[in-house]
Amino acid sequence: MKIFKSKQKLQKEILYEKNISFVPTMGSLHKGHEFLIKKSKKIGGKTLVTIFVNPKQFNKKSDYNNYPRNIKNDLILLKRLKVNFVYIPNKREIFSFKPNKSVFLDKVSKKLCGQFRKGHFEGVLDVVNRFLEILNPKRIYLGKKDFQQLYLIKKHIQKRKIKTKVIACKTIREINGVACSSRNKRLNKKQLRIASQVYKFLFKIKKKSKLNLNILKRKILRFGVNKIDYLEIYNVESFRKGLKLNTNTNIFVSYHLGKVRLIDNI
Ligand code: AMP
Repeated sequence: MKIFKSKQKLQKEILYEKNISFVPTMGSLHKGHEFLIKKSKKIGGKTLVTIFVNPKQFNKKSDYNNYPRNIKNDLILLKRLKVNFVYIPNKREIFSFKPNKSVFLDKVSKKLCGQFRKGHFEGVLDVVNRFLEILNPKRIYLGKKDFQQLYLIKKHIQKRKIKTKVIACKTIREINGVACSSRNKRLNKKQLRIASQVYKFLFKIKKKSKLNLNILKRKILRFGVNKIDYLEIYNVESFRKGLKLNTNTNIFVSYHLGKVRLIDNI
């Protein structure tokens, strides 16, 4: 496994690599990231993982500062997974150049998380656009856990005619149902129990055809959730809001447990 901090050295190394699978991460790796990496390894070619906590996608400085970081453990895991290249840039490396392509920001960016995290998706797309230009990967592996992000990156890649293929990967969960997330590390035992209750409840009610979202919200708050940003039904193809569940819809939720904000779609 080769580790790079310098863009120049990395680009020299991968100049003739035509089959790179790119797995972008913010580190503090967990089973969700592991799944993406294993999937990319299966297809052949070389796997390149980036670890970069992108300051532009945090709308609160405190959230950026408190984001869990654990490079030492991450590198142990990446080595075990036999990742070929790891790129750990600093902010200057990423932001000091003008990308050739501008960011395409689909109007879906204004929905759900876009309403509660101003500038978040602009920040995500800005950095993904830069990474795509630096790495020119054949494929990019992204998780459905961050469905809105996945949708917007796909749209950007389509609209800007970028050749990278998007591989969408299923959400990996803990045994208690909670979607694996770096932010889970900031939850205490009680909060983890509540997060599990929320998942199990939404999973169960997904089988019903008629839902009253306000009643559901009240129930979730009674579990001990501090605040719900949104609880909505969306079509996963068109990303239009719906009132009824069907095979093409998911329940999208974002809620707060103490200072930690979690998202999921079920
Ligand atoms: P992050 O480090 O949180 O920015 O995530 C990096 C990539 O891993 C993104 O494409 C996420 O959607 C994906 N990811 C995060 N959590 C999970 C999960 N529980 N299951 C599958 N993919 C995930």
